[in-house]
Amino acid sequence: MTSTFNHHNFFTSELDQLREEGRYRVFAELERKAGHFPQARRYKDGVTQDVTIWCANDYLGMGQHPKVIDATCDALRAYGAGAGGTRNISGNSHEHVLLEEELADLHGKESALLFTSGYISNWAALSALAGGIPNCVVLSDAGNHASMIEGIRHSRAERRIFKHNDIADLEKHLKEIPLERPKLIAFESVYSMDGDIGNIKGICDLADKYGAMTYLDEVHAVGMYGPRGGGIAEREGLMDRITVIEATLGKAYGVVGGYIAASKALCDYVRSFSSGFIFTTALPPAIAAGARTAVRHLKESEIERMRQRRAVSKVRSALKAIGIPMMDNDSHIIPVMVGNAVKCKMISDVLMDQYGIYIQPINYPTVPKGTERLRITPSPFHTDDDIAKLANALSEMWSHCALSRAVA
Ligand SMILES: *Cc1c(COP(=O)(O)O)cnc(C)c1O
Repeated sequence: MTSTFNHHNFFTSELDQLREEGRYRVFAELERKAGHFPQARRYKDGVTQDVTIWCANDYLGMGQHPKVIDATCDALRAYGAGAGGTRNISGNSHEHVLLEEELADLHGKESALLFTSGYISNWAALSALAGGIPNCVVLSDAGNHASMIEGIRHSRAERRIFKHNDIADLEKHLKEIPLERPKLIAFESVYSMDGDIGNIKGICDLADKYGAMTYLDEVHAVGMYGPRGGGIAEREGLMDRITVIEATLGKAYGVVGGYIAASKALCDYVRSFSSGFIFTTALPPAIAAGARTAVRHLKESEIERMRQRRAVSKVRSALKAIGIPMMDNDSHIIPVMVGNAVKCKMISDVLMDQYGIYIQPINYPTVPKGTERLRITPSPFHTDDDIAKLANALSEMWSHCALSRAVA
């Protein structure tokens, strides 16, 4: 007699295996305190504790900016809680249209198109483009985010993965594809786990030479780089050479939502053919209003970016002085290298429980095995005292775990 499949055993044994490998994800339960970022209250087993968050993607603290909160509250009272429908059926609010205009302007493009998150924007736009353009080949950087990978996979287009940020390898692939065949190169500006920066100019030059479209994820760069916060492509004067710029409203802009900015025809095509755009309720208008306020603010204000950069350089110096090994890069992301999944999780737990410092461990499959790390993201609101406490705690943990130190 064959027995039926035991789902319960399947789930529990898969989870047990994750735990054994130190890869089981435990979410910290937090209450961020508006007006007091990066301080938060943490809940665990019925008790609460005050902690300092060192791993938020709300890089500039815009989630607590009074202008953003006011705009969100005003719109919430004026228009109610939800959009009331998909963009197609009654949910297309004036606020969505205004935000899209603001985003198109940010990137110097004709149009922009909003999605419910950055993940969905990558998934939906890449599925629609690579799936809709006949015989399209996608050239995808090996370091691309899961949302791009899934979008490309869903498109069923042929996919070629080029070595991370390697122009020579990309060209090798391009040469093998007939010139007349449609091509799309998908890559990022700031890679979130190593904090390294994509060679946008090199890729644009190859795209011109081989007639490829370019699709750039600026999720970790918008709000942060460029004179108006348009990202690395703005900083380097390359926005007009990118076919599609994709980004989020959930990181430096501190709210939620995603978008693409591109030509009017391309945005209209995605709007018309993308299931992930059409068949879902639009973002609440209040969210659109808050996000637009954050985008507008960071087009003009440098102070948040300046203070954030100062905090990054202070943290880097403090950790360097005590030999904590960090991956070098030119961005705002500080990867502190542990190189072992179990130790990485353990250090993170002790930092939280004993020092009130919250840094989520980053393990496989988010990063390759052996490169497990603590990814630190300083904000304009971390004080010198916060930084001193962080350095001291890491120093004690490095000694406690007998981890090797970098020579200064
Ligand atoms: C976080 C992230 C996304 C997804 O953006 P969300 O708005 O959080 O859904 C897309 N691309 C990259 C590179 C990211 O790190």
